[in-house]
Amino acid sequence: MTEIRDVVIVGSGPAGLTAAIYTARANLRPIVIEGFSSGGQLMLTTEVENFPGFPEGIMGPELMANMREQAVRFGAEFVTANADRVDLSSSPFGAWVGNDEYRGRTMIISTGATARMLGLEGEAGLIGRGVSTCATCDGFFFRDHEIVVVGGGDSALEEATFLTKFASKVTLVHRRDEFRASKIMQDRALANPKIEVRWNSAVDSLVGETKLESVVLRDTNTGELSALSATGLFIAIGHDPTTELFNEVLDLDGDGYIITAPSSTKTSIDGVFASGDVADHVYRQAITAAGTGCMAAIEAERWLAANE
Ligand code: NAP
Repeated sequence: MTEIRDVVIVGSGPAGLTAAIYTARANLRPIVIEGFSSGGQLMLTTEVENFPGFPEGIMGPELMANMREQAVRFGAEFVTANADRVDLSSSPFGAWVGNDEYRGRTMIISTGATARMLGLEGEAGLIGRGVSTCATCDGFFFRDHEIVVVGGGDSALEEATFLTKFASKVTLVHRRDEFRASKIMQDRALANPKIEVRWNSAVDSLVGETKLESVVLRDTNTGELSALSATGLFIAIGHDPTTELFNEVLDLDGDGYIITAPSSTKTSIDGVFASGDVADHVYRQAITAAGTGCMAAIEAERWLAANE
């Protein structure tokens, strides 16, 4: 018979691992279905300078390995595979990896989100070497550099404006001739003397082997190509929350993020909690994900106490 645990955690970024540390220390014997590519988005970054407690900075994968080790130290168990099915009809909730079934009186979902990429050749290899999907995280590394930001939504305009604090010049590349972003974001970006907009343009290719040196732009109307010097490329074309397992099960917002109660990680199902980027399209930081992972652990613990 399948063992019923107090907590099953799905996902292993900063949210899932913080939930694992807290629930393990609370003797809830969590099992973490960590995914094949465990560790979340920080596994794709290099230096992390804004996670408190590391005055010299720390490499993203090392930070995640430390968090995992900390969870293991308190007894968290890990399944290194992707959950492919869940049953949230009633507690104990189920998650399956193939034929292996895991049951928890509570479940914490921390499956994260993925930044959309342009799909260009060499793009993945240049992440952390000029290509970034997070201005808050990486802007600091581009002091006096020339930067390209791609996108026309609130994120792109917010990031372009933020990056002018560091960059000598920011070129905002958008595929159409009008932005999707709110008017206030547009007004702010368009009034900024460091921002130049290239309308009807797309990044066609990237130049640089070990670090980004320049980009080639394509006019989306004429197809004409032009080179643009840039050592930073910030891709801000949206994120996709990893919620395909929960589509028909939990309440999701229009963009597919799990809806949680205000100031809480409670989802639409009693006993199921969501933390990290899968429920946050606003902050998207490792530290906020860790914070909500902690909240989910405490809420799961309280739920178990109340439902004994
Ligand atoms: P978004 O609103 O979906 O905008 C994505 C942008 O990227 C669009 O301009 C889109 O172009 C472009 N794009 C998509 N795929 C592309 C591709 N393959 N190549 C080139 N361009 C591509 O995403 P977001 O800006 O991340 O915002 C997500 C949500 O968060 C929105 O609801 C937004 O309002 C909110 N948000 C709010 C704030 C704030 O209020 N402070 C800040 C950030 C985000 P098209 O316009 O042509 O489709």
